[in-house]
Amino acid sequence: MTIIENCRRDLAIANRIMAREEVVDHLGHVSARHPDRPDRFLLSQSRSPELVTPGDIKEYDLAGSPIEEAPHPMYVERFIHAAIYRARPDVNSVAHNHAYDLLPFTIASDVKLRAVVHPAYAIGTEAPVWDFRDKFPTATPLVLDMAQGDDLAAILGNHSVALMRNHGCVVALDSIVSTIYACVYVKVNARIQSEATRFGGDVSYLSAVELEAIGALYNNAPHTVDRAWEYWVRRADLSGI
Ligand SMILES: [Zn+2]
Repeated sequence: MTIIENCRRDLAIANRIMAREEVVDHLGHVSARHPDRPDRFLLSQSRSPELVTPGDIKEYDLAGSPIEEAPHPMYVERFIHAAIYRARPDVNSVAHNHAYDLLPFTIASDVKLRAVVHPAYAIGTEAPVWDFRDKFPTATPLVLDMAQGDDLAAILGNHSVALMRNHGCVVALDSIVSTIYACVYVKVNARIQSEATRFGGDVSYLSAVELEAIGALYNNAPHTVDRAWEYWVRRADLSGI
């Protein structure tokens, strides 16, 4: 299998995992930077993630335009991916989802999403929030063009996770496996943080120093994330891949 074929297959599997782990339903998508052309990215044509196959994966440029001339249905929010790849050369995979455990944190403006469990360290001490109303007051919460995508990428900055007001989140990391890992655990972290907050007492958040140490631990033990990937691959429905 060539590098590009392998990337298409991994991306299709990533879609299936996100569906199986209920990070996405029919909404949400995950992409990868093209392994040979850093000025392009790979993203499924508009399909329900649990059905995506390697044949559905299309190429786009960093303005969100399709490379393929043959028309195909496209995700309207593909500009999220284009803008982040353009702004962040270190990023090789981007996911956008509306995980329902996460949405309260995009709505309650005085409650911040913060890392409370170690596998969610990608959140950092606090996830920034992109509020579409700041610069696009008559728009929808969706990212429908490059101007909105660029604004979102600016709010993301050097973070790996950003929330989107009344909408969902973006996750941007160096590989498909890392991005899926973060997507699953951002959702888990949101649920646990919500439940702990309901007790009404103090909530113990992971500090910047602790998060840095956890990140170093993961960097030194990449098999930890690979182990999660094989667990999720086993659980996902990969029929047709
Ligand atoms: Zn969306």
